[in-house]
Amino acid sequence: MRDPSTEDVIAEVPLASRADVELAVRSARQAFDDGRWRYMAPTSRERILLKFADLIERDADNLAELETLEQGKSLAIARYVEVAGGVDFARYAAGLATKITGMTFDVSIPTPPGLRSTAYTRREPVGVVAGIVPWNFPFAIAIWKIFPALAAGCSVVLKPTELTPLTAIRLAELAFEAGVPAGILNVIIGDGEAGSALVASNDVAKISFTGSTATGKAIAKVAADRMARVSLELGGKNPAVVLDDADLEQTVGGLMLGAFLNQGQVCCSASRVYVTAGLFDRVVTGLEGAVKTLTLGAGLDPNAQVNPLVSAQHRDRVLQFLSEADGKAELLHGAQVPDRGYFVAPTVVVNAEASLRLTHEEVFGPVLTVTRVADAEEAIRRANDNSYGLAASLWTRDLKACLDIVPQLHAGTVWVNTHIPLDPALPFGGFKQSGNAREFGPRWAEAYTEEKSVCIVH
Ligand code: NAD
Repeated sequence: MRDPSTEDVIAEVPLASRADVELAVRSARQAFDDGRWRYMAPTSRERILLKFADLIERDADNLAELETLEQGKSLAIARYVEVAGGVDFARYAAGLATKITGMTFDVSIPTPPGLRSTAYTRREPVGVVAGIVPWNFPFAIAIWKIFPALAAGCSVVLKPTELTPLTAIRLAELAFEAGVPAGILNVIIGDGEAGSALVASNDVAKISFTGSTATGKAIAKVAADRMARVSLELGGKNPAVVLDDADLEQTVGGLMLGAFLNQGQVCCSASRVYVTAGLFDRVVTGLEGAVKTLTLGAGLDPNAQVNPLVSAQHRDRVLQFLSEADGKAELLHGAQVPDRGYFVAPTVVVNAEASLRLTHEEVFGPVLTVTRVADAEEAIRRANDNSYGLAASLWTRDLKACLDIVPQLHAGTVWVNTHIPLDPALPFGGFKQSGNAREFGPRWAEAYTEEKSVCIVH
């Protein structure tokens, strides 16, 4: 493994073989079947998970530094967004252990005289969960997989990427320290091969996947064969619609955060902006001014606002998108990149031709396209003209425009006058090819259960 800011080797990690994957699944299956966790009183499960969250908080500085070293993001983002934010999500999910409920029904089933029917549903843990996570927020997303699954009484095999396994390993140690029984949380380090062995295992009842749409589709096909439950949180190409009456300063500041947080390696980042004609020039000038002031440097450098991408391979992929646009759109680049490290200068691409890949494919880097449109109608049409539907934002001070446009945007999350904040209470997931599930919110743990209907004649 290499530090993305220096390219120096920082750790050696073995890749799991197929036999290692089978061992982890067997461990999770045995621990689920022995019943200690699934039949534990919900208050006890909740208490252990809250202790697990406390231990993460205790070790927050260390975890944030590990995250910065392996992933490249700034220490401040790792510490406050990913680790402190992760603790909030962990505690919210831990609390769901005591809030898993069913319903009762008055049924009309004919019964002999003197007998009656009572019917209700109960939710039971689905079994062994494969939690597969990407490299952009490996710590936070690991928490999003582990905590709701454990709250529901499942066991988990977590697979981080081979690029970013270090915080996941620490999480397993902390789970054990908190009192999660042995075998309930297992971590395997591996690439796509280990991932595909994991999803193919007959003992995996549910796959909870966050990653690219291409991988999500491949997993869904394998899962369909044995009807394994599968939830997919996939990619995005998220539009922002800016109307003439938007607050310029708020919009430029919000789009800068939405587009360049974590170097744009965010599934719900703002990546294409449609601005109505009256405000277009001022938005472009504002973004150009802002992008040129950004400083580039290592995640551990407190003065650096833009940090390296995760790997040389990913940097080259992002640069390819930009080189295709060279000469076909106006490219406004930020500061020069340092000599070492996987940096890409933050770039605003103005009025790119619609045929360019970066206008409709997920770039997953510090690249924002800004396009002039005639009016709100054109902005909405172009915003929706994409196979993804993860998130969108709308920038306006007009209440009527806001209430009229929000239902017209095809996205699982629509922000108004902001772009990017997530909250454990608010469901998050995609329309269209951005996924088939929701994480967070009061029904988060339910996704790790089966609903059983019970009918008793008495
Ligand atoms: P990826 O799809 O390449 O990999 C994701 C995970 O899947 C990794 O752990 C990888 O090893 C594993 N994997 C790869 N092939 C597999 C296979 N055949 N079977 C099982 N597992 C396999 O994605 P990435 O490049 O790591 O992450 C970036 C992508 O993740 C972007 O598309 C981004 O939008 C998406 N993402 C989505 C969300 C969300 O909540 N919707 C959040 C973060 C990232």
